[in-house]
Amino acid sequence: MLIDSHAHLDSERYADDREAMLGRAWAAGVGTVLSIGIGEGPAEMHQALDLCREFNGRPNLPRLFASAGIYPHCTPEADDAALAKLDALLAEPEVIACGEIGLDYYHEGAPRDVQKKGLIRQLEIAAARKRPILIHCRPKDEHTDAWDDLFVILEEHWTGTGLGGIMHCFGGGWEQARRSLEIGFLVSFAGNITYPKAQPLRDVAVRMPLDRILVETDAPWLAPAPNRGERNEPAWVAQTANCLAELMGKDPAEIATETARNFHRLFPAEQVMGN
Ligand SMILES: [Zn+2]
Repeated sequence: MLIDSHAHLDSERYADDREAMLGRAWAAGVGTVLSIGIGEGPAEMHQALDLCREFNGRPNLPRLFASAGIYPHCTPEADDAALAKLDALLAEPEVIACGEIGLDYYHEGAPRDVQKKGLIRQLEIAAARKRPILIHCRPKDEHTDAWDDLFVILEEHWTGTGLGGIMHCFGGGWEQARRSLEIGFLVSFAGNITYPKAQPLRDVAVRMPLDRILVETDAPWLAPAPNRGERNEPAWVAQTANCLAELMGKDPAEIATETARNFHRLFPAEQVMGN
């Protein structure tokens, strides 16, 4: 079955139909969803875990896991209390990853030095809790500044842990993909890979080793073609997997199998089972 490695299930846009939406994912062959715990800021970081507790165990729904983290724009709020909350959440068995965290120089919702400091402090907490990280990295158009700064920070503060992580909603070029592979990360593709103008991204994807890729929705954003512009949901991760399959000349079932295997290699069974 497919794994949606990144969805914001706590979005209020699912307030009226969250269980039905998860049911549609199950019906579309999605067996697992990693629910991203950033909310609108640290005060809502626990919401993804709450959803795991609410829905796991109900029949005919995907198995849910959660992350927790402080988004780049929210790093001005990464005070001691917020970081203590993050640390406590990462201790929970369902919270298998720290993220999404990283650097965003496109919107620059927080000063760069604040983003970097917030990222580093979260890396330290994730390392102590032995949780892989989910990276959000967005440079200014036509620049690689955020990526360059990110790799410097990861090499100094993360790669030595051997815990690895995911480049979520990958949007870099081949150089950034190659460096991500070099430091042991998985690269996750989202619905934007289906967009007409995304040929450079498809050119990167086609060169990726099958044992290093994941698929995700980033729902409720980035609905793949032909639903672009609509509210996205995990059921539609199948469209992204189909797009990758076509690019790589593989069967969609093989993409599902390989991406699920990659996910479980990063999050080993004893951990994802919460033991
Ligand atoms: Zn996201």
